[in-house]
Amino acid sequence: MKVLAVYPGSFDPVTHGHLDIIRRGSRLFDRIVVAILRNPEKKPLFSLQERRGVLARATSGIPNVSVDSFDGLLVDYARRRGARVIVRGLRALSDFEYEFQMALMNRRLDASIETVFMMPSETYSYLSSRLVKEVVRLGGSVTGLVPPEVECRLGIRVGNHRKKARGPGRGKARNRRLG
Ligand code: ADP
Repeated sequence: MKVLAVYPGSFDPVTHGHLDIIRRGSRLFDRIVVAILRNPEKKPLFSLQERRGVLARATSGIPNVSVDSFDGLLVDYARRRGARVIVRGLRALSDFEYEFQMALMNRRLDASIETVFMMPSETYSYLSSRLVKEVVRLGGSVTGLVPPEVECRLGIRVGNHRKKARGPGRGKARNRRLG
């Protein structure tokens, strides 16, 4: 029986950490669907369409990977797709508690779907989309951490945001953790 896996996330934007997990998953499962969560409550930097396009191009060299999006319960989506596995990436201990809760809740919702955790190469074990965006906002380089297309789009997008934020009385962004 062929095993289809779903790899869900926001991918706002995709990083080499995500791609590392996708590559590892593609060697383990017959097919892996990268599923972008449509979450109207989160304000993503990149539109769903943009994230889909970027992910499709970044994974075009891996034949058994496809890209899709979903909303609602992940287990419902996985069932609809005929997937028996949910893939999640585990970086450090900080990911564990949340991921553990999610995996057990998903198991409660559908015991036939198994969550599989995968560790990225240690090079990417500190990498997150949030951190990448923060570094670019503060003028740092993310070369080698995201695909070149993402680096380019980030420069344009964050540059645009900066210009907008420079309106009267809004000179400095708040909550900067790296600045
Ligand atoms: P979130 O659930 O925080 O929205 P993302 O959408 O960025 O996470 O990522 C989706 C999945 O990829 C999650 O399982 C997350 O732990 C994993 N992930 C994100 N960055 C990395 C990384 N650098 N290495 C391994 N896994 C990662």
